[in-house]
Amino acid sequence: MPDHRKLGRELDLFDTDPLIGAGLPYWLPAGAVVRHALEEYVRGVEIRAGYRHVYSPVLGKRELYEISGHWAHYRDDMFPPMDLGGDERAVLRPSLCPHHALMYRSRPHSYRELPLRMAESGAMYRSELSGVLGGLSRVRAIHLNDAHVFCTPDQVADEAHAALRLIRDAYAVLGIEPVRYRLSLRGSGGKYVADDAMWRRAEAVLTDVLDASGLAYEAVEGEAAFYGPKIDVQIADGAGRESTLSTVQVDFHQPERFDLHYIGADGAKHRPVMVHRSVIGSVERVVAHLIELYEGAFPAWLAPVQMLVLPISAAEAPYAAALVERGLDQGLRVEIAHPEQGTLGARIRAARLVPYLAVVGAREATADLVALRLRDGRRPDPLPAAHALARITAIIGARKPGLWVD
Ligand SMILES: [Zn+2]
Repeated sequence: MPDHRKLGRELDLFDTDPLIGAGLPYWLPAGAVVRHALEEYVRGVEIRAGYRHVYSPVLGKRELYEISGHWAHYRDDMFPPMDLGGDERAVLRPSLCPHHALMYRSRPHSYRELPLRMAESGAMYRSELSGVLGGLSRVRAIHLNDAHVFCTPDQVADEAHAALRLIRDAYAVLGIEPVRYRLSLRGSGGKYVADDAMWRRAEAVLTDVLDASGLAYEAVEGEAAFYGPKIDVQIADGAGRESTLSTVQVDFHQPERFDLHYIGADGAKHRPVMVHRSVIGSVERVVAHLIELYEGAFPAWLAPVQMLVLPISAAEAPYAAALVERGLDQGLRVEIAHPEQGTLGARIRAARLVPYLAVVGAREATADLVALRLRDGRRPDPLPAAHALARITAIIGARKPGLWVD
């Protein structure tokens, strides 16, 4: 596997600048397209699974994190508070849960509304040491595909199970193979909130979910979140270094701390449970992994440029330009490589990562045809342009791993 940092720069996907700071990458247009396609995919999957999306700010008062428990258990990973004047101190959030808990609390809820699934692709900040930062895999600004499911105790197992299902389905679409599933349990020390009964309850739920899934997994102590155990989906880079991409967590702690409740069928107040989950983890880490996995040759639905039109000579330029317009109208990311940019061979070589090349000569221009060269070397028979565009659009729309279906 290549190094995503090198490839990311070569392919103009992302970069960093010492003046912005270590661990704070920026996304160039090609990388932003990949990120957007992933976020759009996850949003669609979540909507179908009954999630509703929200936005919340990246700052919160220090008191918010004192209540959530982050200040007591997670402060070493947080940036120092900012002085806002008076006695106000704001903190760059280290996670989205406290904001979502407050949003849940802002409205009354009946048991009939549960499970209430709140999703957000949001930024969070972690004060990682500069020595461990690199590329997209270890960053200080993290954009997490996050969600919190507020549910009754009876619904927790089903919700955790469904979250694991979403993760596995997404990995199948993205071509990601986890190296292992980990049941992350608390360890010794003051890092974890103290409530043995709560931990046992949450661990029992996740153990049942993993056992029912039929997946092989390892239970590892000392890897839990401070407020509860989690299922971690582990991936590895080319050097075999393991990291956590997606998680499912069961949390009885924050609902208690934020005094969340719902009105049950009995008319009384009850405490909901929070399931924290991420389908594809942070966009930084998943894109780092995908760059290495595909060596920049992303599946067509993720490719920064999906189709490149190459007129053989200036005479075909008007037809080529019209073809680009037709592709854009269908929602494809299409560009043109003009003859002035080099010989046909040089232009084709420069576009080695583009899934679909449409070479346009006199015959194609006259008969409104497209002769495709696929990135995998195949060359389907020339097709009427409308058919070729429709077929590519269908393959991309279905997020197929392959480039062509005969
Ligand atoms: Zn959370």
